[in-house]
Amino acid sequence: MAKTALITGVTGQDGAYLSQLLLEKGYKVFGVVRRSSHYGVHSHRLDWLGIADDVVFLDGDMTDLSGLCRIVRDVQPDEVYNLAAQSFVKTSWEQPFLTGNVTGLGAVVVLEALRLEAPQARFYQASSSEMFGLIQEKVQTETTPFYPRSPYAAAKLYAHWMTINYRESFDLFTCSGLLFNHESPLRGREFVTRKVTDAVARIKLGKLDTLELGNLDAKRDWGHAKDYVRAMWLMLQQDEPDDFVIATGRTTSVKQMVDIAFEHVGLKASDHVAINPDFYRPAEVDVLLGDAGKAKAKLGWEPEISLEDMICEMVDADIARHS
Ligand code: NDP
Ligand code: GDP
Repeated sequence: MAKTALITGVTGQDGAYLSQLLLEKGYKVFGVVRRSSHYGVHSHRLDWLGIADDVVFLDGDMTDLSGLCRIVRDVQPDEVYNLAAQSFVKTSWEQPFLTGNVTGLGAVVVLEALRLEAPQARFYQASSSEMFGLIQEKVQTETTPFYPRSPYAAAKLYAHWMTINYRESFDLFTCSGLLFNHESPLRGREFVTRKVTDAVARIKLGKLDTLELGNLDAKRDWGHAKDYVRAMWLMLQQDEPDDFVIATGRTTSVKQMVDIAFEHVGLKASDHVAINPDFYRPAEVDVLLGDAGKAKAKLGWEPEISLEDMICEMVDADIARHS
C-alpha cells in the first residue's frame, strides 16, 4: 500500500522538492497550508515543479494545536516532515516572538499532535546549521556544541532538543536533520544566493544596474535543496531514529558566490555590487562548514550538485523568469 506523508511548510522551497521526491516514490502527499486571503498563490513553487494538483492541501497553522491534531488524526500519516518556520534569520530580530512561536514551539505543536493522534508516525525536524552560530569547532559535526546567534537559531535549537526529548521520553521515531544552507531556483528571494541570481538576471537583461548587499566576507557551506530533501527521506527509512549533519564539506564566501553568478553571464561583479549596511545583521554567523561523514556512512547520502552548477541553474532560471 502507498505510504502517506504529511508535510508542514509544503509551500516553501524544501516542501516543494520533498513533495516531488515523495510523489515520485509513490507516496500520497498531504501538505499543511496556512490560510491566506490570496487564493491560490500559495502553490507557486509546486506549480513551477508541475505537481500542485498532486498534493492534497489542508488548512492549518503552526500556532494552532487543535487544528494540527485534527489533521494528524484524519490523515494518519506514516511520515511527518516538519518544515514550516519563519525561516529568514534577519527577520527573526524584528519578529522574535513570532519566530519563537512558529519556528520553536511550532515543532512541539506537531510533536504533541503525533503523540496524541498518531504515535506510530515517523517525524523529521528541519534543524539548521545556524544553531552552530559562533562556531565552537572549525568543522561542525553532530557532536559540535551549539552557540546560536539569532532568535531564529535559538528557536531552532529549542525545537531540536524537543525532537530529541520526545524520542527519549515517549519512544517516538523522531529525527533531527542538521542541514546546512541549501538553495535552488525556488529559494526565497530574500536569501543571499537567490537575491544575487535574481539581480544578476535583471542586470543582464538591462532591467537593473546595482545590487546592494551586506557582509560579503561571510562564508557558508551551500548545497542544493534537491540533494538535501533526499537526505530527509533517508533519515526516516532507517531502523532507528537519529540526528544527522547534512552538508557539502566546502565553504565559500558570499563574495566568491557573487563572482560565480556574474561570471556566468559574462559580467564583472565589481561593476554592479554596492555595500549597504542595512543588510548587515546585529550578530553575524561568520563561517559554517559541515562534515556529513555520518550521513555518508549510515544513510549512503552524498551531495550530487556543485555550488557552481547550482548558481548557474539559478541565474538561468531567473533570466527565464524575467525575460
Ligand atoms: P521556506 O521559508 O521556503 O518555507 C517555510 C514554510 O513554512 C512555508 O511553506 C511557509 O508558508 C511555512 N510557514 C511559515 N509560517 C507558518 C505558520 N505559522 N503555519 C504554517 N506554515 C507556516 O523555508 P525552506 O523551504 O528553505 O526551509 C524548510 C525548513 O528547513 C525551514 O524550517 C527552515 O528554517 C529549515 N532550514 C532551511 C535551510 C535552508 O538553507 N533552506 C537550512 C536549514 C534549515 P507560506 O508559504 O504560507 O509562507
Ligand atoms: P542564513 O545563513 O540563513 O542567514 O542565509 P542568508 O542567505 O540570509 O545569508 C547568508 C549570509 O549572507 C549571511 O552571513 C548574511 O549576512 C550574508 N549576506 C550578505 N549580504 C546579504 C544580503 O543582502 N541579504 C542576505 N540575506 N544575506 C546577506
